Amino acid sequence: MYNILKLKSIFETVTKETPKVLKIMILGFILIIAILIIKYKPVYEVKENGKTIGYIQNKNVFEGLINGQIINEELKNVDNISLLSEPQYEMVLIQRNQNTNENEILNKLDKEAVITYKFYAVNVNGKNKAYVDTIEEAEEVVKELKKEHKNDDIDLDITVSEKYTQKLEEVKTDKIEVAEKSVNNEIEHLLDEKEAKEAIAVINGINVSVLPVSGRISSRFGVSSSIRSGAHTGLDIACEEGTAIKAVSKGKVVFAEMNGPYGNLVKIDHGNNVETWYAHCSKIYVKVGQKVKAGDKIAAVGSTGNSTGSHLHLEIRIKGTAINPQKYLYKNK
Ligand SMILES: [Zn+2]
Repeated sequence: MYNILKLKSIFETVTKETPKVLKIMILGFILIIAILIIKYKPVYEVKENGKTIGYIQNKNVFEGLINGQIINEELKNVDNISLLSEPQYEMVLIQRNQNTNENEILNKLDKEAVITYKFYAVNVNGKNKAYVDTIEEAEEVVKELKKEHKNDDIDLDITVSEKYTQKLEEVKTDKIEVAEKSVNNEIEHLLDEKEAKEAIAVINGINVSVLPVSGRISSRFGVSSSIRSGAHTGLDIACEEGTAIKAVSKGKVVFAEMNGPYGNLVKIDHGNNVETWYAHCSKIYVKVGQKVKAGDKIAAVGSTGNSTGSHLHLEIRIKGTAINPQKYLYKNK
């Protein structure tokens, strides 16, 4: 009986004491939580390469800001934006009075963003000659120049290529007209090189690559004749009426009409004070102001003006003075 009572008393003691300990523990726990909630708040710590760069309130909202403000920046020529390193997030407690710094972190990430720029090069025979912003502009330049040079007897390969850079200062693009000019300059340069290589004579620095007509010399420079008042100021080359007369070099038409004893006369200014004159033409194919290339058909052989038969009267003038064309052309004829 005694033993039973003793056991009961022990049991009662334990059940009475245990809730007390539990209560204290639970109270203590609540107190700690309460202190934590009053003093601290949960936030995300943002790390870059293991280094803390700040704290943010909401991870999803913040990643949305990165995508909206950094990755999708609407800058000119931007092909791609990526962050140098992806930020890592870790939930931590910070003191309630400490502020998060989303904007500061965004600015930092923005400064470190790697931006790849895309633009287009227009190439002449493999060499970059102009840069434009869009593929449409590049194709427009190519189209215009192919049209302009379609009759040129030259190996010309005008292409477009994509260019990428991470250096904005390398993206120096031009408007269509400026790009066209740059590409055209290169083509003109190639044409000049070709002309120089094929030159049959150089008159005062001007490359001559084409004979105006081929035929028999019927009257030389400087001779006197009963049909003229003074000495002959040109070279006569007899050929059939209607034969095409070609410009001997590139230049600009400065005269193209009937002119007394010369008949139908075409004058071409080649620059460097060099002019070539083509007289007695039956037809004129060019207009004043028109640019011509070596070999362009400018007129047809005839016998207009002071002429006794179908021939081309060719004059070469340097600073206005007629010189002997056979110094340069038809030398051995
Ligand atoms: Zn003549």
